[in-house]
Amino acid sequence: MTTGPTREAVIDRGAIEHNVRALRAAAHTREFIAVVKADGYGHGALTAARGAVAGGASRLGVADLAEALELRAAGIDVPIIAWLHAPDADFGPAVAEGVEIGISSVDQLRSLTGRSGSRTPVVHLKFETGLGRGGAAPADWGPLIAEAARLEREERVRVDGLFSHLSGASRRDDARQLELFNDAVSGAKIAGLTPRIRHLAATAAAIDMPEARLDAVRAGIGIYGLSPFADRSSAALGLRPAMTLQAPVAAVRRVRAGHGASYGYTYRAERDTTFALVPLGYADGIPRQASNAGPVRIGGKRFRVAGRVAMDQFIVDVGDAPVLVGDRAVLFGDPLRGAPTATEWADAADTINYEIVTRIGNRVARTIVE
Ligand SMILES: *Cc1c(COP(=O)(O)O)cnc(C)c1O
Repeated sequence: MTTGPTREAVIDRGAIEHNVRALRAAAHTREFIAVVKADGYGHGALTAARGAVAGGASRLGVADLAEALELRAAGIDVPIIAWLHAPDADFGPAVAEGVEIGISSVDQLRSLTGRSGSRTPVVHLKFETGLGRGGAAPADWGPLIAEAARLEREERVRVDGLFSHLSGASRRDDARQLELFNDAVSGAKIAGLTPRIRHLAATAAAIDMPEARLDAVRAGIGIYGLSPFADRSSAALGLRPAMTLQAPVAAVRRVRAGHGASYGYTYRAERDTTFALVPLGYADGIPRQASNAGPVRIGGKRFRVAGRVAMDQFIVDVGDAPVLVGDRAVLFGDPLRGAPTATEWADAADTINYEIVTRIGNRVARTIVE
């Protein structure tokens, strides 16, 4: 028996590289922004960043300034955009590191340019087209672009990009958002701005809405090899899931018919059988909601979680299969290699594959392979 980590997410950096290359070729945009926020959707921000850059990403996107600074500290030197800021955000350190700032209001713009520093801040102005989150509302767009143009003339800021974010509510809603965005871009040009990149599409629109690709797409989920669509698998999109979540079986126990499994006995053995114990639980991000449902592959066969997922572990009823302590239990990975998928876990837990991979906790060792 080999001794490996108790809980392991194997991250295939080559898969991320492949996915970026495939998505970039399909979108065919001048620039490609790979979104590596939230620790690279649980894959490791640095691993994701390196894989994405190798695959041809020209910029990286994150939510928080701190995420951008971590990438800089690790030596990532491609342009990085951060777009979600605390009300009292201190932009100084990020600007000093050349991080590009997504700006949603005149207040943010003033707080960014009000401080002295040797570097001219580079910004992407965000216009709110309907999602109801960040971005300047239509009534605030005029003042924002006017102020940005004035500050740019004084060389106190450079407006490199204009962007917005789609709701994915329906084709019509997205088309309407694109129309509003294009109007906002026209307004910015009339105000004297000359942004190099307009970006609107995340993974779903990058694949499905050619007219929304503009100068750059901002792809997250797709670069990790997962499909944003309910009706199309990653394989159908030519994407390779980059994360395989696995653990060695920690114990096996022969039990009699009727034996309960885990807290509350929501599962009982129908006949004499074997319980295999998998050392992954909700502390590691395995949804408790997937109790009695989540798929697991052990020794080439598929089983399901038996009973409740606990904090650190869950049980699999493997019947009479010859499962041994130390055998590898795979929760999800690449279906082309026989693994269940993160999307199946999402379905079992009534959520989306984004959440399944992103919530995998720190107790799970990340093993990086090419
Ligand atoms: C997270 C995020 C993305 C990436 O979305 P995916 O659906 O994962 O491709 C793009 N843009 C913004 C503003 C985001 O917050």
